[in-house]
Amino acid sequence: MKQKREFKKKIKQRFPYRFSLRDYVKLILKIMYLYCGYIQVRNYILKQQKKSLITVLLYHRVNDNLRDTITVCTDTFQKQMEYLKKNYNVISVRELLNRMKEGRNSDRAVVITFDDCYRDNYENAVPILQMYQLPACFFISSSMVGTEKAFKHDLEIIGHGLPNLKCEDIVEMDKNDFEIGSHTISHPRLSECNEETLCKEIFNSKKQLEEMIGKEILYFSFPHGKQSDFSEYARDVVKKAKYECNFSAYGGLNSPRDNVFDIKRIGIPESPSLTFFKAWIEGWKIT
Ligand SMILES: [Zn+2]
Repeated sequence: MKQKREFKKKIKQRFPYRFSLRDYVKLILKIMYLYCGYIQVRNYILKQQKKSLITVLLYHRVNDNLRDTITVCTDTFQKQMEYLKKNYNVISVRELLNRMKEGRNSDRAVVITFDDCYRDNYENAVPILQMYQLPACFFISSSMVGTEKAFKHDLEIIGHGLPNLKCEDIVEMDKNDFEIGSHTISHPRLSECNEETLCKEIFNSKKQLEEMIGKEILYFSFPHGKQSDFSEYARDVVKKAKYECNFSAYGGLNSPRDNVFDIKRIGIPESPSLTFFKAWIEGWKIT
């Protein structure tokens, strides 16, 4: 216990978070957005029309040793999961697809997803998700599994790689009813790949993950996630490879009538307050 306290103190000293004047202004704007009545009226009308919105959250890392735009610390993650459990219907990707295929959704729902292949997902996020009995889907770049390889974005930002998921972690996560999806083999920008590489990345990652867990892989999320990182051709290849859906990462909420090959997600960074998180879920752009 004492050790844990000391560790937390050390991290706080290393990464002090000061609530700046700017943060207070952002907070006030978000409170106005959340409670001015717009969201309540919007959600009520959409519910009547059976077109309630679905927010898909995208996490990368849950880790107390890093502070960057794709890492959320364990305390924050736990608070966010507790909030979701109390306030939203958290559904699996399978259920999301059922509702989108039907084109109807009567309750405001949230889906939790993770991209890349970080081992802290298994070590830190999974126990919290299990504690709150929340479903989640993990999109994995298959060539990173069981290796010490670094993602290019980590080399550029933090200068080194981080532990990746092991095959047995993924098998266990699958056995515990978490969903597994493909995030290509080597995490390239698909818009920059030639046809042959693009097909390999989409088809073979599916095959490799299927061999790993002995189950069909039906969900795909493309690396980097911006509209410019993907193309119509890549979308056609994803369909040809018999995936049932494709996830992006350029923000936005989903209507049940949207295209399942263009499911929008919002990337969740470390947030200074739960109000920020609430506003993001309800469509406030990440700022
Ligand atoms: Zn990624």
